[in-house]
Amino acid sequence: MLSVSEIFTSWQGEGRLTGVPSVFLRLAGCHLRCRFCDTIYAQNVSDGKLLPVENIVEKIVFNAQNTAFPSTSEMWKKVFFPEADIHQIPEPVEVRKISHVVLTGGEPFLFPKIIPLVHELRQRGLHVTIETSGTCALRTGCDLVSISPKMRNSGNSQVLTNVSGSLETLISDARDYQIKFVVDHPEDMEEIFEFLSDFPFIERRRVLLMPQGKTFEEILARECWVQKTARENGFGYSPRAHLFWFDAKRGV
Ligand code: SF4
Repeated sequence: MLSVSEIFTSWQGEGRLTGVPSVFLRLAGCHLRCRFCDTIYAQNVSDGKLLPVENIVEKIVFNAQNTAFPSTSEMWKKVFFPEADIHQIPEPVEVRKISHVVLTGGEPFLFPKIIPLVHELRQRGLHVTIETSGTCALRTGCDLVSISPKMRNSGNSQVLTNVSGSLETLISDARDYQIKFVVDHPEDMEEIFEFLSDFPFIERRRVLLMPQGKTFEEILARECWVQKTARENGFGYSPRAHLFWFDAKRGV
C-alpha cells in the first residue's frame, strides 16, 4: 500500500522536462518541513488515501489515456490572447496517450513500495521521474531522478537534510538525474557552491537553479538575477512554469 494524496495530469513545470505532458502521482508523507513547502496537505502519511500498487498503476494508466488538462490561468490568457478572445479559448485542453509519469510528494523515497510501482509503470512503456529531496534512497531504476537538496533557506535541521548517505545511490541507480536548487537570496549561492564541491561527481550541466516562490509574482521577482547567476555558472534555469500556466492551486 502507498498513501496517495492526488493523481492528476498537467505539464511538467520544473526541470529539464518542462512542458512535457505528464501524469503526476503525489504520495503523502515527508520527514522534512520546508518553510516554502507548497504541498503542506501531503506532508503526513495520514493526509493520503492508502491504495495498493495495482490500483495506483491502473489509475495512472487510465489518466495517461483519458485525460484533460487543468484550466489555464487568467494571467496566461491575458499574455497570449487579446481581451476579446479570452472567452473563446477551448478548455480544458485534451491530451491523449501521455508517456511520462512523475512521482512526487511528500518524499517518495521513504516508501519501499515505489520499487514495484516504478517497475510496473516502466513495464507499460511509461517514462518515470521521481522528485526527491535526496535525503533517502531506494533502488527503483527510474528514468530520471530529480533531486532538490534542501539548503539552509528551507528552514529544516541540517541533520535531516544531509544527503551524503543517499546521493550517490540515487544518481547511480537512475538512468538520468538532475539537481534543482531552490534559490531565495543571492547569499544562498555560497552554500550551493559548497554543496557542489562536497559532491564533485555532480555534473554542472545537470544542475538547475530555481527561484523560490509559491506564486508566479514571487518567481518573477527573483527571475532576473537567478537566471543571470545560472548563465554565468553554466547551470540550467528552471522557472516553476506551472504557476504561470495554471496558477497556484492544487492538482496542477
Ligand atoms: S521536502 Fe518537499 S514535501 Fe517535504 S516539506 Fe519540503 S517541500 Fe514539502
